[in-house]
Amino acid sequence: MPVIEVSHLHKRYGETMAVQDVSFDVAAGEIFGILGPNGAGKTTTVECVAGLRVPDGGEVSILGLDPRRDATRLRHLVGVQLQESQLPDRLRVAEALDLYASFYRDPADPAALIEELGLGAKRNTPYDKLSGGQKQRLSIALALVGNPRIAILDELTTGLDPQARRDTWSLIERIRDRGVTIVLVTHFMEEAERLCDRLAVIDKGRVVALDSPAGLVSAVAPEQRIRFRPSTPLDDQLLNELPQVTSVTRSGAQVVVTGTGEVLHAVTSVLARNQIIAADLRLEQATLDDAFVELTGHRLTD
Ligand code: ADP
Repeated sequence: MPVIEVSHLHKRYGETMAVQDVSFDVAAGEIFGILGPNGAGKTTTVECVAGLRVPDGGEVSILGLDPRRDATRLRHLVGVQLQESQLPDRLRVAEALDLYASFYRDPADPAALIEELGLGAKRNTPYDKLSGGQKQRLSIALALVGNPRIAILDELTTGLDPQARRDTWSLIERIRDRGVTIVLVTHFMEEAERLCDRLAVIDKGRVVALDSPAGLVSAVAPEQRIRFRPSTPLDDQLLNELPQVTSVTRSGAQVVVTGTGEVLHAVTSVLARNQIIAADLRLEQATLDDAFVELTGHRLTD
């Protein structure tokens, strides 16, 4: 059962067609990514889903409700963290959480949320004294304080250092493990690859692909390459016979096997049966980055 259904969404700003015929479904419990370069129409799409913008065409259903007609009910079911959320400089972390909690009938415990987001030591710190990562975590806490069933998070790791970004990723996974469906807007390939169960790749206002990260990669570049050093001489024929293998070549002491599908499993099984150990085994595969170039004709970030 999808919890979000978007069909044929259109939105223009004057002459700019920001979103052109975007359709996708989000299933309960998944981390669904919306990936694309700056200006692709990602924020406009999620703003329409969240009922913050009025589409020019198309349908959006979220938990079976209409984002505009049922805005009041949805406020209690959907948490939104939008780009560049700003709070008053003097507002302290705990005060911000208490204030936002007061907007909801059945809020989460602000103190527990502060701890869960690693802000315990900062509970009395004013907003303008927080680091970038702490501000991001606070804005995620504010999106979650209403105990939403769906959280929409827009570019939440932009501007964070690599460690803070990885911490935020673990946090998102913990939120999902609590049963919250997550829609994640991002222009970071690594973030999409690491976190998302499925992705809509958006370019110039259109969905150009919709699949799991691995599915997107294997659809555009199915070939994989395995390199290893066999512990004893190896008859290439053993590998060439495998239906998953397309070629076997040598590079010095290394055997280089290319193939598709479950080629790694097939090759390692044959080696094990013949009591050959594969030293320094590496698997090379196209990345989501390569898939994006293949799909759109350009790189995600230039
Ligand atoms: P993304 O989130 O992928 O960066 P946006 O949805 O913010 O993309 O923007 C899509 C397009 O719409 C861009 O060309 C952007 O300049 C334009 N746009 C976004 N918001 C507005 C607005 N309020 N008024 C006019 N144009 C806008």
